[in-house]
Amino acid sequence: KSKSKKLAKQATKKISRAGVIGAGIMGGGIAYQSAVKGVPVVMKDIKQEALDLGLTEATNILTKSLKRGRISAKKVTGTLNKITTTMHNNELENVDIVVEAVVESPKVKTAVLSQIEKVVPEDTIITSNTSTISIDRLAESLEHPEYFCGMHFFNPVHKMPLVEIIRGKRTSDETIATVTAYALQMGKTPIVVNDCPGFLVNRVLFPYFAGFSLLLDDGVDFPAIDKVMEKDFGWPMGPAYLCDVVGLDTATHASEVMAAGFPERMPHHAEGAIAKLAAADRFGQKNGKGFYQYG
Ligand code: NAD
Repeated sequence: KSKSKKLAKQATKKISRAGVIGAGIMGGGIAYQSAVKGVPVVMKDIKQEALDLGLTEATNILTKSLKRGRISAKKVTGTLNKITTTMHNNELENVDIVVEAVVESPKVKTAVLSQIEKVVPEDTIITSNTSTISIDRLAESLEHPEYFCGMHFFNPVHKMPLVEIIRGKRTSDETIATVTAYALQMGKTPIVVNDCPGFLVNRVLFPYFAGFSLLLDDGVDFPAIDKVMEKDFGWPMGPAYLCDVVGLDTATHASEVMAAGFPERMPHHAEGAIAKLAAADRFGQKNGKGFYQYG
């Protein structure tokens, strides 16, 4: 953290207002985290239901903290008042930073990023919360890649300390310093990493998912694997449950990017158990059914 604090001192502007694009699992969490740490945020999605869900999730986290006596009722309303929602890009025109958190598709992300760049001031920092897609690849859609980098949060955002800040070839030092400062403002632990598919954490996590998928192909039951990894090995959750938390659609998109990025190292998942569940609309906790059934 001391290295990050030193880097953050070189930030050239203060983040007073943020924009988040995509109000899903991650966008909702990022908006909450920014607001609870005092930085107002505009959250944009193409679906009203997603915006409503994002706000409900923020309200639930705050209500839990209130009940546990960790925060005051004033803090609850103060935080919620700092989150505004919209379905229109032009409401993002006054933000200092944008965090893009739409679906893990290079095609959708490049289109969204270039639309956003057209509505925000030229020096607005644009970041992507992509899990796996190369930042340089996304930067190709932008006229000012110097103001662009990755800002990769982990799920659930309010609990996971780490944020990977991904430096693209053309990202400026000032952008990295300012995004580091914002991550610290949000109470997170930033690390700056170089660009490659999956960055750092997902280069470890996705081979683990691939190993899990191969075990399923060998006929091992997923609850048995989860039980061993959780109860006996001692990890907080097993791979099937973790896939349900991440979202099986997101995990499938991300593993496709990893397989394309490292064709000799990563097996292709198109036929794997995770992709098959996603193809059957079992997306995990986000729609109540994945490896397990919820609700
Ligand atoms: P999600 O499916 O929960 O949410 C995606 C949201 O994007 C949806 O609400 C959708 O309506 C919205 N969207 C789609 N197209 C849009 C557009 N053109 N403009 C605005 N909104 C649009 O997905 P998620 O899990 O929140 O993942 C979002 C990003 O975060 C992905 O890049 C993913 O790889 C990354 N990520 C996910 C996790 C995880 O555990 N789920 C962790 C870290 C990073």
